[in-house]
Amino acid sequence: EAKKQGRNRIEFFQDEMKDCFEKKMRLEAGLHTALENNEFELFYQPQLNVSLGYMASAEALIRWNHPEWGMVSPAEFIPLAESSGRISSIGAWVIDEGFKMAKELKQHYPKLQRIGLNVSSVQLREQNFVEQVKVALAEYNIEPSLIEFEITESVVIDRLEETIEKLSELKKLGIALALDDFGTGYSSLNYLRRLPIDRVKLDRSFIQEMDEDPKLATMVHHIIEMAHGIGLEVVAEGVETEKQMQMLNALQVDKVQGYFYSRPIDQKGLYAFIDAKYGEIQ
Ligand code: C2E
Ligand code: MG
Ligand code: MG
Ligand code: MG
Repeated sequence: EAKKQGRNRIEFFQDEMKDCFEKKMRLEAGLHTALENNEFELFYQPQLNVSLGYMASAEALIRWNHPEWGMVSPAEFIPLAESSGRISSIGAWVIDEGFKMAKELKQHYPKLQRIGLNVSSVQLREQNFVEQVKVALAEYNIEPSLIEFEITESVVIDRLEETIEKLSELKKLGIALALDDFGTGYSSLNYLRRLPIDRVKLDRSFIQEMDEDPKLATMVHHIIEMAHGIGLEVVAEGVETEKQMQMLNALQVDKVQGYFYSRPIDQKGLYAFIDAKYGEIQ
């Protein structure tokens, strides 16, 4: 009986693994044709300057709308794209599309400070990445500071010297740089000091419980002071409640981003958001 149960259990896990493997294979095959079939879209999430009450910037977040599976989360397909090498062409598409949107949006909304684009570590490491950025800047003829690249904290550590060098080249071009998901990786004050970044994006795990946990609130307070002290701005991610927003504003956070203001929305949605809330302030 026990043996039988044991065997069933093994079979269960094998089935689960098989599903998982097959799913990955199918996703990977789908990624292969997603670009040519126009299945990607950039959504945008507003970033607000709370104390001054306006939208300063927006982060572009990729969406994959598969004809059969519907929306596939980037948390699911970006890692696959990275391991299969597909991220190069997807990343190039994000840059092209993001730069184009930055140009259009700046014309419509002159207060726009920048558009943030997520850049994968794999993409960053590519030989011709900086050249690719130069070409896109020239093609769209935009102020380089209108673009910000978000680099995830966890990827910085294992190749610190190489990353510093790459980021410095981008910085020289005038591109703005943000350290994404700050606080979740092996946060080291050493690299925070050495990376040529403009701001940190405080991870939402800090923000979401700070209104219930005084320890977290104290940490957020001191992280903001420390960042400001070394000349970095702080963007708070994942702001969902008015209380969180008010606490962050009192702590003089530079920008907030989260469902409290808006979920990531498509291009039309972003224009509507701006026109409804900020149209008359210009
Ligand atoms: P991220 O760059 O840290 O983006 C923030 C994620 O938090 C987004 O998930 C966003 O929709 C979500 N979010 C924003 N506000 C809130 C909130 O108030 N509450 C909660 N619960 N979530 C919130 P999303 O769009 O699913 O993206 C997941 C991750 O996928 C991103 O994390 C980023 O690492 C990656 N990603 C997205 N777009 C791209 C891209 O174009 N290129 C690359 N390389 N990675 C991307
Ligand atoms: Mg990001
Ligand atoms: Mg983040
Ligand atoms: Mg993230």
